[in-house]
Amino acid sequence: MAPRLIHEVIRVGMLQCNCSILGDPATGDAIVVDPGDEVERILEIVRRRGLTVRTIVSTHTHIDHVGGLAGLHGATGAPVLIHKADLELYQNMDNQAEWLGVPTPSVMRIQDFVKEGDTLRWGGYEARVLHTPGHTPGSISLVVEASSDGAAGRPPNAAATAVDHPRLLAGDTLFQGSIGRTDLPGGSFPQILASIREKLLALPDELIVYPGHGGTTTIGSERELNPFLR
Ligand SMILES: [Zn+2]
Ligand SMILES: [Zn+2]
Repeated sequence: MAPRLIHEVIRVGMLQCNCSILGDPATGDAIVVDPGDEVERILEIVRRRGLTVRTIVSTHTHIDHVGGLAGLHGATGAPVLIHKADLELYQNMDNQAEWLGVPTPSVMRIQDFVKEGDTLRWGGYEARVLHTPGHTPGSISLVVEASSDGAAGRPPNAAATAVDHPRLLAGDTLFQGSIGRTDLPGGSFPQILASIREKLLALPDELIVYPGHGGTTTIGSERELNPFLR
């Protein structure tokens, strides 16, 4: 049986943001999503797993999801991606730090952006970008699955297989039994509901959801039980 997708989730920083490290065990290529803090801990996992970080992406630019971008970029050289509609929020990091009463993390110049329909690839895997505004204007969700073009760049006999469960990284848009707050600058309650209904609930029930905070869930159980989606 082919090796499975490496997916380590660690809770980083004061607000315990779920940072995902996703790696292809066959090629060693990896992507890091939402490195909010604790870059050394992230790098330790990367080293232990023998991975090479190819891409760094944040689901949105709240401080708890982007605090480690500059440090991780500095250590790996990997490109950093966000949705452009969240750039202004990123550039206002001083304000965000002030609201929380924490020091401003180092901020870098972000020049690469993702948009609805883009695909990020690492090894034999890919993440499809859904623009899901509402929590912030540039919030995105990522559908992670085995690459449709299969074995590009992989050694023979190492193609990703259907045993890898597809998963959704939902950032702070959808939580187990809840949705993201919309009372911060750029937030919109009607918009987050539309994003969830039109884009996330269009996904299969069995899809596993990794929210930006807290435990995992599935599209099906949120469709059925989430009080905000009744
Ligand atoms: Zn947030
Ligand atoms: Zn958050």
